[in-house]
Amino acid sequence: MISLLSGLNPEQLEAVTLPYQSALILAGAGSGKTRVLTTRIAHLIHSGQVSPNGILAVTFTNKASREMMARIAAMLPINTRGMWIGTFHGLCHRMLRAHYQDAGLPKTFQILDIGDQQAIIKRMLKDLAVDEKAFPPRQIQWFINHAKEEGLRASQVEAHDSFTRRMLEFYRVYETLCMREGMVDFAELLLRCYELLTRNEILRHHYRDRFSHILVDEFQDTNRLQYRWLKLLAGVDLPRSAVVFAVGDDDQSIYAFRGAHTGNMQDLEHDFAIQKIIKLEQNYRSHGNILEAANALIEHNRGRLGKNLWTSEGHGEPVRVYNAVTDFDEAAFIVDEIKALHSEGVALSDIALLYRSNAQSRVLEHSLFNASLSYRVYGGMRFFERQEIKHALAYLRLIAHPDDDHALLRVINFPPRGIGARTLEQLQDEAKLHQTSLWSAALNKSGGETTAISDEGKAKKGLPSFVHLIMMMQRACANLPLPETIRYMLTHSGLLSHYGLERDGAERLENLNELINAATSFVHEAEDDSLVAFLSHASLEGGEHQADHHQDALQLMTVHAAKGLEFHTVFLSGLEEGLFPHENSRNEVNGLEEERRLMYVAMTRARRRLYLSFSQSRMLHGQTHYNIASRFITEIPDHLLKWLQPLSKVNSESFRSVSEQAGFTFGRNSWGQSAGKEAIQERLTANSSEQLSRWRIGQNVSHAKFGTGVIINYQGEGADIRVQVQFNRAGTKWLLLEYAKLTPL
Ligand code: ATP
Ligand code: MG
Repeated sequence: MISLLSGLNPEQLEAVTLPYQSALILAGAGSGKTRVLTTRIAHLIHSGQVSPNGILAVTFTNKASREMMARIAAMLPINTRGMWIGTFHGLCHRMLRAHYQDAGLPKTFQILDIGDQQAIIKRMLKDLAVDEKAFPPRQIQWFINHAKEEGLRASQVEAHDSFTRRMLEFYRVYETLCMREGMVDFAELLLRCYELLTRNEILRHHYRDRFSHILVDEFQDTNRLQYRWLKLLAGVDLPRSAVVFAVGDDDQSIYAFRGAHTGNMQDLEHDFAIQKIIKLEQNYRSHGNILEAANALIEHNRGRLGKNLWTSEGHGEPVRVYNAVTDFDEAAFIVDEIKALHSEGVALSDIALLYRSNAQSRVLEHSLFNASLSYRVYGGMRFFERQEIKHALAYLRLIAHPDDDHALLRVINFPPRGIGARTLEQLQDEAKLHQTSLWSAALNKSGGETTAISDEGKAKKGLPSFVHLIMMMQRACANLPLPETIRYMLTHSGLLSHYGLERDGAERLENLNELINAATSFVHEAEDDSLVAFLSHASLEGGEHQADHHQDALQLMTVHAAKGLEFHTVFLSGLEEGLFPHENSRNEVNGLEEERRLMYVAMTRARRRLYLSFSQSRMLHGQTHYNIASRFITEIPDHLLKWLQPLSKVNSESFRSVSEQAGFTFGRNSWGQSAGKEAIQERLTANSSEQLSRWRIGQNVSHAKFGTGVIINYQGEGADIRVQVQFNRAGTKWLLLEYAKLTPL
């Protein structure tokens, strides 16, 4: 226990042991903000200033809150499970569950994730006979969420034009729909919780009395509503309010596009009468060169609050830069480096592959898979978003709450049970007419509860069979433990046998079994292990936790998802104009500065080694793009960079012709340093025209894996030529000529 405060530097110690007063710790990446926050919680409890019940701590991701609990548990012999540590969404959800009646929600209310929400908006548009082209669902979704994040209900939004009036109409209908089906979207969790505390004095007092210390990590990314929620909970208007301890870094504010409001920092200072802002300037994470590179980059932003980060570690290694010819080449390079690092003893889980957009992960995944390197993708196609899992969850939702139209529509005819579009239409008409859920309409139509049950045993088809199935599941699962409920549902719904028959069903079956495992570990870990609690967990958690987390695996994620984390080695790929900085932001100062902060976040995740790579051509959304290196690379001083060496000799003639043909342009660094230039030359020579002339449409070829076939088409230029081959057995495929190793026949 003596070790609790030891090892902290004087500023950190001051922050951890501050007396009962609100504080803002403003400090750069890797300076120990999260460590200070966690240590302060342990210190407050350990020194008897507050019981674990009196603490509310907000983190940005589920991963971060799990880590925080683990760190506290390592410092103190207490059970952190019941503590109020979580994300804004998670904490609000917890309050709403506890007070669902006061919040005007059904006991079994369900959470809608982004995908569900979009599906519901689409369904609504169909019901209203509105053309999706005139009012794209995404736009409506953005409008609704944005309004909610500003704390506004439809009646509170001012509409000065016909477009906004139309949007408000959608907002209203959407709300009615969600309420009728007992569904709550992410933004609603927060807004409803805020409204609950505003309206209900008893609850407000209860929570204000309870939480005397509110601690917030990544404060720079809070939005207005989250800030108002904190303020309300702390009770700043009272003589003795809770104290707020917020840590943040203005240079890492990367959620402005989702309503994050950096003005919250100034508001906090003012509203909570903060006398002193503590700064931490020593970075404990990264070696000198990495830190210096990140500092130099972020200096290009204006209007910063200003910090000076230093490290007592040595310079370490230079930042490595790789200039690839294609995205495949980039991935191949990354794979080679990973293999080398791994053989030197770096754990795969201590290596991160970061990218700006999710779409970039595909090529990387492909190469990692071929190289048999284990990896986990965070925030990509998340476990609970997979089709088969969504189907399974829909059945579970119906067991818990059959009035959930969304769930019902998903599985009423899946696996197919002969319920056609006509039956469904009649059902929807009926439900509309009587203002009921589809389930009530189905019950009516299939002869009511009694017939459905007394019919048991007889072979049923169509709607009655579905009604019967759901009722049977409800009865059977009423007293089963959660994993058994899932097992029962998987068998009786027909999902297992359906996917068992599918050609590519093996992986889906594996995932369905994984759902049982997920439920088993949920039952062990959660306080409330009911089906309803599990369903909420599935929506909030995203399922990253369920993936096999014991295995040593590379970590793939977007830069946004990497916030707050650290790794021995970071590969940051796709550093190209248009991709990073993203094209939507390039022409606008605020947008560009936010991209630069994102780049700063990415670079500062690395402890020892940082790789930056870009590719001259890249296949994205089915098109080949020719790129120039990101300006961010040129913003890093040359002496901190190491351009990786080419492999062999150079043919400058073919280099120039191919690169001109492809329209390549390079940033200062790639021209300025011969190593980078030679690397490009070497790769391009491999594809010089003399090699290309060996191929023509109609050419018979053979491929090591796909066998023999004939070239039927080609696209791209220079180094990026892809050919389409119709294989005799393996079907038609597009292959990158440089890598396909085709043999002419
Ligand atoms: P970010 O801005 O990226 O969220 P942060 O400011 O929250 O970073 P931490 O993650 O808390 O920084 O700390 C960065 C690393 O430095 C961690 O590995 C942490 O354990 C280590 N660290 C922090 N303070 C000290 C210290 N006083 N002595 C040794 N290591 C420290
Ligand atoms: Mg942190």
